[in-house]
Formats: sequence, structure tokens, C-alpha cells
Amino acid sequence: MSPAPFAIALDLGGSQTRAALVDRSGVLLARYAETTLNDASAAHIVQQLADAVAMIAKDVPAEKIAGVGLSSPGPLDTENGIALGLPTLPSLTDYPLRTALEALLHRKVWVENDAISAALGEWRFGAGRGLQHCVYVTISTGIGGGVVADGRLLRGRKGMACHIGHMLLVADGLLCPCGRRGCFEAYGAGRAFEKRAMLALPAGEPAHAASVFAMARRGDALAQRLVAEEADYLGLGLVSLLHLYSPETIIVGGGMANDFDMLLPGIMARIKTDAMPAFADVPVVPAVLRGDAGLVGAAALVFEKT
Ligand SMILES: [Zn+2]
Repeated sequence: MSPAPFAIALDLGGSQTRAALVDRSGVLLARYAETTLNDASAAHIVQQLADAVAMIAKDVPAEKIAGVGLSSPGPLDTENGIALGLPTLPSLTDYPLRTALEALLHRKVWVENDAISAALGEWRFGAGRGLQHCVYVTISTGIGGGVVADGRLLRGRKGMACHIGHMLLVADGLLCPCGRRGCFEAYGAGRAFEKRAMLALPAGEPAHAASVFAMARRGDALAQRLVAEEADYLGLGLVSLLHLYSPETIIVGGGMANDFDMLLPGIMARIKTDAMPAFADVPVVPAVLRGDAGLVGAAALVFEKT
């Protein structure tokens, strides 16, 4: 008997809860999205996930669905399916997310930390397809990542590996949302970029990342300096990832990758000066699945097991 052709993917995002029907070539055939109930009880959040699955599954025969994969913010113990303490969803603290969802759906669910899920999506169906070693970095409000080494995804103890946003960049540096000072995220994330822009730009200028990039494209010298500084911080972080994991490619995703072309020269300049020469020729490329990487990865989780 051939395996069931589809998976249902869920992405529990900070602003949106999304679901999709995905086939075994990574194509999204149907989508559904709702606003995430950030302050709701755990039971409500899980019910919303189950309802989203029902919306996607309603016209698909049950035997054609191989399973449900869930991409969730972390930290998440994916071995046991337990949400440990999600900053954006306070009710999901030490909560058995997987078993609660399985009880409502009466089917098997696989859960994954969102950045690892996105890395899996890009590796199987995106910019990392066919590689044995690649690093995926997502730069949006925060920074996360996932690593494929020797042809497998690194998960680590409790599936919590690769919280690369919390590598140290500057000793006793700026405060990171994790509570520590000096993390890569405190310097390279979109939130940090916008904070620098807010302080540097004249009052009244919009400091959203997208508008700063647009100003830089129009030739504004101050915006160009802000972009160059951001690229340099990203380069510093990527140099450590090159040295640690020796990837064939580094894939950059997340909202900040919308302006990847503006960041790349500064990233490569920092890699050229700081990486050991044997690492300096590794390409840095943009993600191709964009906002869908987590969903596609959640489906890939199911296809790896079924
Ligand atoms: Zn941190």
C-alpha cells in the first residue's frame, strides 16, 4: 500500500495560527489562518489548533492524511511534546501540547520547535535541497535557527538544539529578551535593528525595518549606515556558525531576509575578514519558502515518519 499522500501542517505563530494541506513534494494545496489567541487558556489554544485541522481536513478522505505536524515557538521539549514556557503564549507553560492535541484529533501529532521546523522545510523542499550540511538562520523579531549536519537535522537534548539567537556576541552587552546580555539576537534581530533606527533617525521618520531598507535603497546615507551595521552584526554571528558546523551553505530566512540583497555585501565582508580562510567561500543564500518554511517543515516531520 502506498503511503497517504498528504500531511496537515500547523504553525502556531506569534500573530497567526496557520494550517495547510501539504503533499509529499512540499506543495501547499490549501491554507487556513486565524489570529493567534495569545492570552487565551491552553485549552482554547489547543481547540483553535484542532479547529484549524478540521477546516483543512473537511474535504479530504481521512485515509489520505498521513498525520499532523505542528511547528511551535519554543522552548519546547519535542521528545515529549511539552511546551516549556512560550514567551508569546503564557498559558502554554509546562503544558503537554502534543497529547492534548492528539486527544482532540484522535490522530498522531508530531511537534517541532519553529526554527528547526523551518530549517527542515528549507532543507527538504527549499534552498537546502540535496545538501548534507546546511545552516538555516531566521532573522525576524528574534533570531532562531536549525542545523543539518551529516545529512540529518540536529535536535539535541529535548529537541532544543540550535537556539542560535542566544550565542554570545558581546560580553556584558545589550539585554536580550531571554534575560541575558550580549546575545546575537540582542544585536542582529529585527527588533534590535528597529531600535537602533529609532534612535538614529530624525523624529517622525518611520523606523520599521522595511521603511529603513526602502530609505537605504533610495540612497539615504543614514539608512545605509544602519543597514551596513545590521549586516555586520549578522556577519559576526554567521562566522561562528561557519566555524561550528562547517555547512555547505548558510540559508537566511525570516522577515529581514526580504531585503537580503541589501544585507549580503556587509555579511560577506565580515565573513571575509573574520572567518578562517578555509570557511570564507561558503555561500550565504536567501530562503525560498519565505513565510511558509515552518508549515512545509511541519509537513516534512510527518513525511519523515510515515
Ligand atoms: Zn538571548
